[in-house]
Order: sequence, then C-alpha cells, then structure tokens
Amino acid sequence: MALVNENYLKLPGSYLFAEIARRVSSFQKENPNAKIIRLGIGDVTRPLPPAVIENLHKAVDEMAHAETFRGYGPEQGYAFLIEKIIQFDYAPRGIKLDVDEVFVSDGSKSDTGNIQEIFGVDNVVAVTDPVYPVYVDTNVMAGRAGELTEQGKWSKIVYIPCTAENNFVPALPDQKVDLIYLCFPNNPTGMTITKEELKKWVDYAKANKAIILYDAAYEAYIQEADVPHSIYEVEGAKEVAIEFRSFSKNAGFTGTRCAFTVVPKEVVAYTSTGEVVQLNKLWNRRQTTKFNGVPYIIQKGAAAVYTEEGQKQIKALIDYYMTNAKIIREGLLSLGLQVFGGVNAPYIWLKTPNGLDSWAFFDKLLNEANIVGTPGVGFGPSGQGYFRLTAFGNKENTEEAVERFKTRLKL
Ligand code: PLP
Repeated sequence: MALVNENYLKLPGSYLFAEIARRVSSFQKENPNAKIIRLGIGDVTRPLPPAVIENLHKAVDEMAHAETFRGYGPEQGYAFLIEKIIQFDYAPRGIKLDVDEVFVSDGSKSDTGNIQEIFGVDNVVAVTDPVYPVYVDTNVMAGRAGELTEQGKWSKIVYIPCTAENNFVPALPDQKVDLIYLCFPNNPTGMTITKEELKKWVDYAKANKAIILYDAAYEAYIQEADVPHSIYEVEGAKEVAIEFRSFSKNAGFTGTRCAFTVVPKEVVAYTSTGEVVQLNKLWNRRQTTKFNGVPYIIQKGAAAVYTEEGQKQIKALIDYYMTNAKIIREGLLSLGLQVFGGVNAPYIWLKTPNGLDSWAFFDKLLNEANIVGTPGVGFGPSGQGYFRLTAFGNKENTEEAVERFKTRLKL
C-alpha cells in the first residue's frame, strides 16, 4: 500500500488567492459594467528589456546549428552568467565570491522552497510575520511545522511579528531557533532593514550556530543609500547566510524564469554528532541530483542584464514601477492613511482605516472603488488589519486607482 506524505494533508487550500478570485468574480457578475483595477498581483507587467530579447533571439539561432547547439549545461549555471553576477552584483560592494558559490536556477520560489531539504527535520524554523508563504508551506511539507493552530500559526514555527509598532523590523527571537528566513526589501510589507539591524541577526546566527536564509528578490528596488543590498555586506555573514536573488522583478523574468542562490563555502551546519558540514557541498549535491540547469537560451537572456544597455533598461523598468509606488504612496498619505513600504520596494502596505479587518477593507475597496488588493492577513496573523497594494500595474491604471481612492472611497 502506497502511503502519502501526510504532511501535505495538513496544508490548508491556497485560500488567499482563491478567495480573492471568488469575491472579484461574484462582484463582477453583479456589476458587469464596473471597470476593476487590479493592484493585488505580484507579477510584473512590462515587457522584457530589448537587450534581453536580442540575446534570447541570438541564443535561439545558436541552437539551430550543430556547431553552436547546446545540450545539457552545467547544473549550477554557465560561467558566463555567474561571472557577470559576481562582477556586477557583488564585487562592487566589496563581496568576494567564487564561481562555485553561485548557483543559477529557475527561480527564487524553487530555491527558497527547496533549500530546507538540506537541513534536518528537527531544526526550529523562524519566520517574520507577515511572510512570503513559500517558506512556511515547504517546511510544513517536510514535517518541520507541527500543527496548524486556531490563531493561524504552526505550532513548531516561531513567528516574529513585523508591524507598525516595531516599524516592521523583526526583533531577535526569545527562544533558540536554527533556521531563520529573512526577506528584505520585504514582500508583503515593502519595508527594509538597516545594516545595523541585520548585523544583530548575523551575530545571533553565529552565536547560536543558526543559518539565515536571506531572500533578496527585490534588491534592485532599493533606492536609499543606507539600505544593504546583500546580507554579505554585513561582516561575518558569509559564515551563516545563504542569499537568494532573482531576475523576475528586476528584469521581468517572472515568466521567463531565472534566478540564483549564493551558498558561500564558509557557511556550515552540523550533524547530530557535531561534525561540521559545508552547505555549499550539500546544495551542489542536491542541485546536481535533482536539477538539470536553466536553459542556455534563458541564461543568455539573463546575461544581457549585465551589459551597458541592459543595465540602463532594467533601471528604466524599475523606475517605471517605483514611479507607480510613489503615486500610490503619496496619494494614500494625502488621504491621511497610514502607509508603509513603497520607497525601496514595489509593495505598499497600508493600515486599514477605522480598525477594519483585512477582508472587510478588501470588500469595501472592491465595492466602493472597484480596486482589488491583497488582504494582509493572508500573509500571516500579524498581517491582520493591513492591506497590500502593488506597483506592478501600468501607470494609467495606478493613477486612476489613486483617483478612485480619493473620490470614491468613503473613509
Ligand atoms: N521571494 C519573494 C519574497 C517573492 O515575493 C517572490 C515572488 O513573488 C519570489 C521569491 C519568487 O521569485 P521567482 O520568480 O524568482 O521564483
């Protein structure tokens, strides 16, 4: 008799987006003429930059000729891309990495989801709350999370609240944890962390032999000078941190799929008998066994991001979305709403007015202004009473949405 992994049965259905879709479609049925603006999606909308398109075309043509055809590539990614990543994203910040410390992949979702496989099942996992759901759900699947409680928390996961009260900066846990997921700039709050605050986590990890899993998928959106782009800007972080980066949000690769994960050779964990193990070796073993690399064509496309033209073009993309973020942020602030994020990230996190819960505000916004956003509580219990809007729409719709906030929403 084949037995299932019963941990999967503990997972609730993906309630959040299914419930949003249900409410939107029922509203649209009752109000067929309403023009709904969607500011809920976390997907980009602008096309790939021309430099990327050009490289993709060239790479497709290479595949048409026996002399330039490529079959399986290195599972870890082609050196032409990894060398550029190190040269552009890390070296200028004084971070030295070897080529075999960077692993190219098909996405940060896969990597932040798969990384837990190289860790023992008895590790205590800590997440910030609200949180990108992948970190939690993949630990549920692996049997590390315990049971779902009535408060919407998993019994064995340590939740670190990030709310307006602590300016969305997570406090160190008051119990010992082993695996810590941090994401900055943060999805969903759009908030960042300073180098000094990040250093506290690195010091905690060193003192407790813990590992930080640092998701920097939105790094390219950082505008302010004093915000760290990489956890490795903090001294000693190479011993305790794995970093995730993606081409999804800086270069429009959400549908094209390319990302990378940095696993320095210094970062180690332990066997139950205290033997030291390099995580770089384990991740390499995992990837070479289960992954056959990102397509050559796609990696060529990603490499175009690091050309002079590519750099200019991705900056223009980011500027486009950050202009939207500014429009939303300033528009909502002018209404007296409490607004967070949107300065170094494409997410705007607002406190729902008049003490409404997240879903009540969702309904109000949909009914009165025909705008769809994401209820904060969908990202974790500390997201209750908050609401996420994204800057990934087009400028006209974003302006129109803010206008509707001003003219239609009864605050
Ligand atoms: N990490 C965070 C925090 C995200 O918000 C997302 C996507 O929305 C991802 C990772 C996934 O990125 P990718 O498209 O590289 O899988």
